[in-house]
Amino acid sequence: AVNELLATYRRASGFDVLLVSDRGARATIKRFADSSIIPQSLAQGVGTAAFEYERAKVENKPYVIVGRAIEGTDIEVFFLFPEGQVQDQISQLGTVLFTGWLILVAASGLIGVLLSRQVLTPVSRASFAARSLAEGLLDTRLPVETNDEFGILALSFNEMAQALQQKIAELSDARERERRFTANVAHELRTPVAALVSEASLVRDQLDDIPAEFRRPVQLLVGDVTRLRQLLEDLMEISLFDAGRQTVEVDEVDGPALISTLLRRRGWVHSVRLDAQPVVLRTDRRRLERVISNLVSNAIRYGHADIVVRVRKTNDKALIEVSDKGPGIQPEHLPNVFDRFFKADPSRTGFGTGLGLSIVHENVRILDGTITVRSEVGHGSTFTVALPRKRQFNSREAE
Ligand code: ADP
Repeated sequence: AVNELLATYRRASGFDVLLVSDRGARATIKRFADSSIIPQSLAQGVGTAAFEYERAKVENKPYVIVGRAIEGTDIEVFFLFPEGQVQDQISQLGTVLFTGWLILVAASGLIGVLLSRQVLTPVSRASFAARSLAEGLLDTRLPVETNDEFGILALSFNEMAQALQQKIAELSDARERERRFTANVAHELRTPVAALVSEASLVRDQLDDIPAEFRRPVQLLVGDVTRLRQLLEDLMEISLFDAGRQTVEVDEVDGPALISTLLRRRGWVHSVRLDAQPVVLRTDRRRLERVISNLVSNAIRYGHADIVVRVRKTNDKALIEVSDKGPGIQPEHLPNVFDRFFKADPSRTGFGTGLGLSIVHENVRILDGTITVRSEVGHGSTFTVALPRKRQFNSREAE
């Protein structure tokens, strides 16, 4: 019966059987027919009541050994289930799970990146477009690709850009119209005013022949006509600045020589002192003359006393300073003196046009220089122009 039982078990694959009795050990395969392969604790623990089991190594391979004593006999039966395969399967399962987990993590990361890119691309495109709009590229528009919030954002952005572009075009048109109007008015008035000036000078020459009571009004008239001509010339010059059509003609200019010639030509040598270091600079002669003559004529008109033109040089700059010891400019007026039509004392209608210093400012800017003013009420004013000595203009450069 034992042989038969063992033969039956032998046919059932997957596990081995060991029978232990007082007569010895028998097994489905010969090398297991040895009771010492059963761990001691299991061998002592088996009974008839239930199956006991334990893990153990047999021939260095892991097994689960299940044992029980057969009732009514001295036989104990042990089933040896090899665990190696199960462990292989478990570790295979682990590998599969781990690989699956890796793929899942990578896939969710990828999906995250794709999703965030889908969300962030329109946002970064919008911020790029806003930046280029701010930099003045007014025809910047966003593509409207979707019907979602981003599509609505792109639509609103485009509407805003369109409105902005339109407004700016309108403003620059209006500005251009205004500039052209000023230029045209000045131009149209030029001929009659030139005639007025020459007639006024004729009248002035005949002043002695005019009855005494008319002399004063005639003098005032002549003065006003001269101012009108000055105003027209200033307006023409300003409209050229606004049109951006000024040209710069660069020359080697001997600073002190230019200033002393200017003072002589304008008849200012006795009222203005020149204190100059030798400086040669590359700049536009005519514009420099305009700057200095405006500053000196202001100093004579408003400053009256102790007018000095100083010329100094630094490594790369020529500094030209026009100072007077006149009444000075109120501190609250200082920030505005370079504004167009600004007059610190508008009631003094006999004086200039209010454009002189703004023309100076524009010319200095065009020559790549700076102008500053210091003034103390009761002590006089100092205008300082700093010009680059070696600025490389093209020989004739449109700004
Ligand atoms: P204007 O044609 O009236 O002289 P400017 O633009 O040359 O116009 O000057 C603006 C104003 O600055 C003048 O009206 C005057 O009040 C003030 N100003 C200019 N230069 C001096 C100066 N050297 N001393 C005092 N005030 C001055």
